Amino acid sequence: MKDSPLPHFFELGLDELSSVLSDMGEKPYRAKQIWSWAYKRFASSFDEMTDLPLALRQKLADAIVMRRLEPLLVQEGTDSWAKKYLWGFRGTPLAESVVMKYSYGSSACLSTQAGCPAGCAFCASRIIGFERNLSKGEILEQFLGMCRDGNERIGHLVFMGTGEPFLNYDAVIGAIDTLAMEDGYGLSRRKVTVSTVGVPQAMRRFAKDSGGARLALSLHAATDEVRDRIVPWNKRHPIGEVMAALRAYAKDTGQRVTVEYMLLRGINDSSEDASKLAGLLSDIDCLVNLIPWNPVPGLLFQRPERFRVEKFQEVLLGNRVKVTVRRSLGGDIEAACGQLRRQETKTEI
Ligand code: SAH
Repeated sequence: MKDSPLPHFFELGLDELSSVLSDMGEKPYRAKQIWSWAYKRFASSFDEMTDLPLALRQKLADAIVMRRLEPLLVQEGTDSWAKKYLWGFRGTPLAESVVMKYSYGSSACLSTQAGCPAGCAFCASRIIGFERNLSKGEILEQFLGMCRDGNERIGHLVFMGTGEPFLNYDAVIGAIDTLAMEDGYGLSRRKVTVSTVGVPQAMRRFAKDSGGARLALSLHAATDEVRDRIVPWNKRHPIGEVMAALRAYAKDTGQRVTVEYMLLRGINDSSEDASKLAGLLSDIDCLVNLIPWNPVPGLLFQRPERFRVEKFQEVLLGNRVKVTVRRSLGGDIEAACGQLRRQETKTEI
């Protein structure tokens, strides 16, 4: 890591850990033992690994940096459905993540970048701009930190926090691969979803690398004219291109994909918009997830009225498009979609 010449534990692969241990003259089985402490029991220091000899724990601490992102702020919604974490180092905020409770269990929503370069007009990340990619370890630490804090094994993972996962491809894939390892956390890849603004090359690559993980596209408009206005990234990769990549993903993996469509009052929420969307999606096996816009202070959009959301949904259903409306959790703590902004807010718990 930047401030230390020593390798950082959560950046290492199991093979790399094994070679550090073999250089120390340690037995090969130790690597898996340590791995299991970190990924099954959420240890964040070698000291906690009480079945390792004290001398080895000491040697490890001298050779490898093991730490967790510090939770600078933890907020729980009044309904306890969502808990938001602001992570950082030495008091400096870096990223936010959220754990959400559903009937099927807990789901983690992770950030992949500090800030975001996509600049979507309606998203809180736009206000803070882009700082840097998070490392694989920083992504893993958010996830493991929430497991540790909540003392639970989180079963679902979505990359829908701050940042564009496919502009930080290797770190995101590395984190998924690490969590999916049988010898470690053993997360089911089918319970992982990567949400993208639409990076066609990376979407095609992901079809090969995902191993069953799911893909969601943040479409938000059915025409380039509307999408250009709210998702500036569209000027680089217009709808035709991202839809082709989404179709290729569905075809190559045999999976149903998700299309996220956020509804902004008066901009993309009319019945005509819904018909156009149905037309665009007529030849792809997908589930549309409607997301009524979550307010972001300083942004002048409006959430559509409830009847419009229902009407939009009806038009899609009438055209045989599968559709759900995303339940918005954590609005009261600004933990809902598009509200993460890596800032300390007033209410501290
Ligand atoms: N960069 C990725 C992940 C972003 S966040 C992507 O674009 O998919 C996950 C989803 O929340 C995206 O669909 C994003 O467009 C949406 N979103 C952003 N701001 C929002 C807001 N204020 N209200 C509702 N959804 C929002």
